[in-house]
Amino acid sequence: ERAFAHPVCVALEVAGDGVALPLTPGRPDDWFETDGQITRAPVRALTLAALAPRPGETLWDIGGGSGAVGIEWLLSDPSLAATAIESRADRAARIARNAARLGVDRLRVIEGKAPEALDGLAPPDAVFVGGGLTPGLLDLLATLPNGTRLVANAVTLETEALLTAAQARLGGSLLRIELSTIAPIGPKRGWKAGWPITQWSHRL
Ligand code: SAH
Repeated sequence: ERAFAHPVCVALEVAGDGVALPLTPGRPDDWFETDGQITRAPVRALTLAALAPRPGETLWDIGGGSGAVGIEWLLSDPSLAATAIESRADRAARIARNAARLGVDRLRVIEGKAPEALDGLAPPDAVFVGGGLTPGLLDLLATLPNGTRLVANAVTLETEALLTAAQARLGGSLLRIELSTIAPIGPKRGWKAGWPITQWSHRL
């Protein structure tokens, strides 16, 4: 069981034999309890790079899943804040457990469906959409203050279509992430492709 009070304590444990939570985003998937709904480590690293947290900023992690993106945002600096919005009760509870276990229990978890669940929240500096992307949510995000950074990942063609349309309408950049890892082919090895991800990044 990996349980630490605070990331700084983890850094201090590096000298010993214990496992230590790495200091950079893209932390191994097995640090997170998950039911399979998790942005995998390499894609998560690219996602955090696109979100580009700066001191004192707040993130909305929409479609929190296992909470990995919001948690890695918070692990980047103690001055950061984040709210995860997750429609499924079991996953909202899992997000809170992961945050507590990894030393960032300041992650605020809202169980509810975006966009309605965003009502009344103070505007964030950055938004990540990992689930629940609809035209209605995009319209709402487009009304956030100038300078807000939006990052959305799509794995399905349906969501990708929304992102390519959003890029044409609002601007920003699209990144296609196609990564492979090795897997056995009988006694030998071969590259096994993961699902391609389309990532839209836009500064309002
Ligand atoms: N980035 C996450 C994984 C996201 S999986 C991680 O790394 O852990 C997408 C999640 O979005 C699922 O858990 C799903 O329940 C949630 N979701 C889908 N539609 C939603 C909506 N309208 N509002 C909130 N959450 C939603």
